[in-house]
Parts: sequence; structure tokens; C-alpha cells
Amino acid sequence: MIQTDILIVGAGPTGLFTVFEAGLLKLKTHLIDALPQPGGQCSEIYPKKPIYDIPGFPEILAGDLVKNLVKQIAPFEPGFTLGERAETLERLEDDTFVVTTNKGTKHAAPIVVIAGGLGSFEPRKPPIKGIENYEDKGVEYIIRDPEIYRNKKVVIAGGGDSALDWVIFLANVASEITLVHRRNEFRGALDSVEKVQELKNLGKVNLITPAEITELHGEGQLSGVTITKKGEESILLEVDHFIPLFGLSPKLGPIGNWGLEIEKNAIKVDNSYDYQTNIPGVYAIGDVNTYKGKLKLILSGFHEAAIMCQSAYQRINPGKKYVMKYTTVSGVEGFDGSKK
Ligand code: FAD
Repeated sequence: MIQTDILIVGAGPTGLFTVFEAGLLKLKTHLIDALPQPGGQCSEIYPKKPIYDIPGFPEILAGDLVKNLVKQIAPFEPGFTLGERAETLERLEDDTFVVTTNKGTKHAAPIVVIAGGLGSFEPRKPPIKGIENYEDKGVEYIIRDPEIYRNKKVVIAGGGDSALDWVIFLANVASEITLVHRRNEFRGALDSVEKVQELKNLGKVNLITPAEITELHGEGQLSGVTITKKGEESILLEVDHFIPLFGLSPKLGPIGNWGLEIEKNAIKVDNSYDYQTNIPGVYAIGDVNTYKGKLKLILSGFHEAAIMCQSAYQRINPGKKYVMKYTTVSGVEGFDGSKK
């Protein structure tokens, strides 16, 4: 059981900055995210786009903002459970909350903060009969550890950046890599398309277009796929892994069953004070919450994190007086010139 003071569901910009605000109050934090990397929408949807409304940064790439946030919170040593979706919330008799992920990892804390944004990003699955029987038995929708593909036969399906980037990367890892796309044209960056074409010409990548994977084979574990090309006979290809990369779509998902008041797919909170939900001790901040006048912006999430942490401090330390100090006065552990 992972124990912490504040358990944060969602490691987007809001969840990451919560670590900083909690750290200033000497509260320990742990983050859970369904994605294999932190940053939420900034990392998953638009890492290379510039943002212009982060105070103090006239222009910053979304991916760089995440890198900066990760650096800013590093001194507080937050824990991370990445690549796992928070599935259930349970309240124990002593008011401790236990959050369990889809992989069975358990986390206990007196405070839970939901910073789940648009929800957890769920992979778009191809409509292949029985695909769920092979999930984690040769079929993966997200690449968490590329090393598992070393010296294996891999087929990737998709036509976007993610499919192209992974084909290029795995060309030097897998023993055989095949890219299947239902069109001849790719949606990804032109230089990635050219690189894949180059690898094909060198015999390092098999490229099959326009085609689709239509059947999966194997007793328990995946051992082959059927590739159907328009107007041609189907091909049966021996593979160890099939990775469909058709993008991710966000869903509020299991959080919707936690007994929280939901309005228009977002969690209702008390914005007159501390962004607490209808369950005392459970807060919701960032894009995932709703209240009158809500702005779904990164800076709203940062502000809500600061207020919410002050309230959490009072819940954890009832009656204890906290005097807010500017970081210019208190310093931040781990940074130059700070007090250790
Ligand atoms: P998110 O970034 O959505 O992160 C939430 C995280 O929670 C995700 O990583 C998700 O996987 C995780 N999660 C959810 N449910 C679970 C669960 N059950 N278990 C585990 N993990 C879970 N905002 C601006 O301020 N300025 C801009 O210029 C701007 N441009 C944008 C451009 C685009 C293309 C898009 C899509 C958005 C833009 N935004 C912009 C909006 C901004 O990205 C969001 O306001 C911000 O990402 C919200 O941060 P968050 O941390 O609240 O949520």
C-alpha cells in the first residue's frame, strides 16, 4: 500500500503544480496517471504547440511547460504511479481514502485530489473480433516499455505521428517490424513519413498499405494476424505483438462512479472556498471540475491547486495555524539559495 498525505489523480499541469503547493506546506504527494508520462493534454495532445497565456512566459511550448513543472516539483520528491488508471475510491472507518488502480496498486491518503482533466485517455480500439482476449497477451495500445519488443516480431497499425515515430524507433529494437495503414497517405509529419519510406527501402521496415488487420490468431497468446489488402488475397503474418495506434480519446471513466456530483461530464465543486467535492476530503481541480464562471485554462488549475492545498493542510492539521510566506522569503528546498 502506497501511503501519502495528498493523493493526486491526474498528472497533467494541474496535478503537477499541486505537488509544488503541497510541498511548500510540507505535505507529501503521490500522483497516479493512466498515461505513461506526466503532462496530461500538454504532453499527449499538443507538446509542440506554443502556449501564450502562461503568466511570465510570453511563449512556451506545451512540452517545455511540462518539463519545467517536473523540474519545479522535483525537490519535493513526489511518488508516481504511471500507466495505471485510478479505478475505485473507498473510504475506511478512520476516514482514510484508498484508491485502487486497474492494475491493483493501492494508495492510501487522508486527502484525494482529482486533477483528471478531460478524463483518462482511453485508446481507440480497432473493431477486430475478440481483440480484448489478447490485451496484454500480445496486443498493446500504449507503448510503456519499448524493451519488451527487443528481438520480437511486431506489427503496428495506424497512420499518425505516434505510429510513424514508434516504427522508426522499433526498427532498431524489434527483429521484424511491419506498419499497416488503411490509406496510402499518412497523417504524420512529413520527415517521419520520409524516414519510414527510407527504412522500407533499406529492408528494415515492412510497409503494407492500404490494408487493415482483420483477424488475430493464437492460443491464449497472440501468434499471428491476418492482413487484408483491398482486392488482394489476405496475408497471414506471424507476430509476437500487435500495437494499434489509433489515438486516445478522453473519458471521465471510473471517476464517474465514485459518488461525486457530476454536471455535464465534470465534477461539481465548492468554488466559494476550496474546490472540495460533495465528499469531504475529496477535491477536484483543473479541467475536471465545474462551477459558475469556470475557465478551462492551465492558469485556473494552478490557482485552484494553491487554494485547495491550504484547505487540505487544515484538514490534516486541524487547529494548527499556518502563516503563508512568500517563496522569496521562505525559499524552496532543493533550489539554489534555499533553506534546507
Ligand atoms: P489534463 O491536462 O487533461 O490532465 C489530466 C490527466 O489526468 C491526464 O493525464 C489523464 O490521463 C489523467 N486521468 C484522468 N482520469 C484518470 C484516472 N481515472 N486515472 C488516472 N489518470 C487519470 N490551456 C491554456 O491555458 N492555454 C492554451 O493555450 C491552451 N491550448 C490548448 C490547446 C489544445 C490543442 C488543447 C487540447 C488544450 C489547450 N489548453 C490550453 C487547455 C489545457 O491543456 C488544459 O486546461 C489543461 O491541460 C488542464 O490541465 P489538467 O491537469 O486539469 O488536465
